[in-house]
Amino acid sequence: MLKFDNSYARLPERFFTRMQAQPVSAPSLLKLNDNLAAEIGLDADWLRSEQGVAMLAGNALPEGADPLAQVYAGHQFGGWSPRLGDGRALLLGEIAGADGSHWDIQLKGSGPTPYSRAGDGRAWLGPVLREYIISEAMAALGVPTTRALAAVSTGDIVLREDRFPGAILTRVASSHVRVGTFQYFASQQDSDGVRTLLNFAIARHYPQLQADDAIGFLTAVVEAQAALVAKWMGLGFIHGVMNTDNCHVGGLTIDYGPCAFMDAYNPAKVFSSIDQFGRYAYGAQPEILVWNLAQLASSLLPLIDDDMDKAVEAAQAALHMFGPAYTARWQDVFFAKVGLAEGGDAEITLVQDLLTRMSENQADFTLTFRGLADGGARDQFVDPTAFDEWAAAWRQNSPDTDLMNATNPAFIPRNHQIELAIKEAVEGNLSRVNRLNTVLSTPFVAQTEHADLMAAPQTQELVHQTFCGT
Ligand code: AMP
Ligand code: MG
Repeated sequence: MLKFDNSYARLPERFFTRMQAQPVSAPSLLKLNDNLAAEIGLDADWLRSEQGVAMLAGNALPEGADPLAQVYAGHQFGGWSPRLGDGRALLLGEIAGADGSHWDIQLKGSGPTPYSRAGDGRAWLGPVLREYIISEAMAALGVPTTRALAAVSTGDIVLREDRFPGAILTRVASSHVRVGTFQYFASQQDSDGVRTLLNFAIARHYPQLQADDAIGFLTAVVEAQAALVAKWMGLGFIHGVMNTDNCHVGGLTIDYGPCAFMDAYNPAKVFSSIDQFGRYAYGAQPEILVWNLAQLASSLLPLIDDDMDKAVEAAQAALHMFGPAYTARWQDVFFAKVGLAEGGDAEITLVQDLLTRMSENQADFTLTFRGLADGGARDQFVDPTAFDEWAAAWRQNSPDTDLMNATNPAFIPRNHQIELAIKEAVEGNLSRVNRLNTVLSTPFVAQTEHADLMAAPQTQELVHQTFCGT
């Protein structure tokens, strides 16, 4: 059964609002992640039981839970929101491992909280299944991420553009501390709050650091986030809402709203319907990340040094490490993608030349890289000779096929496939959701019987926009 520790609930009262989930009418289990349950020591059979499903729907409270909604703030599209917080989510509690690890168990779509503002605190089936499929695919692709333990339907209707079936996602993560959580306390000149949060985050994510080591923490977040975004770039992943409240201090991908993987390579690609000016375009992600990290740095200033000038200097030095850290991680990723264990300036130029040719030829990002190992890459180019010219130079480096196949997935959660799977799920048929989820659990394995899920969308299948769905 469940052994809850509630370390966040033991933080000062101003960190959250204690509350219960709002019951739903007819909970029913849609998906359960057996592997993840095992990994965090939960009994999958119990989770499937009536009691288990009641917990996953917020209808029954497990013993020892002390549920709460967390408060945070954040910059959304650059505009400051002094108070956000879990507006449709509840932290039920934390599962503590014998090794001291903690897993937050959070219900997303569990009803209104004091932080809901205008929203109803609910979620519908579409975004819940989207997050389930994509976050689990990200984990299988080797990207740090929040996880999906379960999805339940609620039996209630949620009103959005239309009437949709309501659902709740059980999200699991090593914490839900965001840059925006630091900003919340900093913006209230609450240095004690920032310090308490810092020490919570250090214990959770960077236990090698001493308590109160604000600059060590900032440096660690800079490095973790640089590595994370380099991984996104290597997969053609566009987060879509890199607001500071969606920027995790443990370096996890969090908040799968309008995110999407691009098909044809285009550095300016944007999917999100609300990202009118391309602030969070694929190619803008590293720069936006630096902006977010600067917000974290400024929230930490009072803890870095009593002398403000010295604090600013130290914070800037930590932020300046982003450039070299990101470049190094980006090179690790892209050298491996073209089959090189290492490289220098000539290899950087080689990779960049390929990317330029891909964008000029509307080459599918995933299939081009996957196709480097089996000769399929040139078919992705409108003008295949553009690839041939590049490949002649590339082959001189004797690229490593195994390295490429372990780095370049055959399968990504393609937008058009997710939308099709959701459409069928709304009609009551989960088979496509299940199939996508299964195939994406081993994305580097060539599963030829699932070639249809590998394919790029036909013109009429292209999905041009994604929505937050909130
Ligand atoms: P997001 O864009 O998903 O990061 O959400 C931004 C903020 O809006 C967060 O504080 C959410 O809790 C809140 N929010 C999103 N959807 C809803 C909803 N349906 N009801 C209440 N609050 C919401
Ligand atoms: Mg969010």
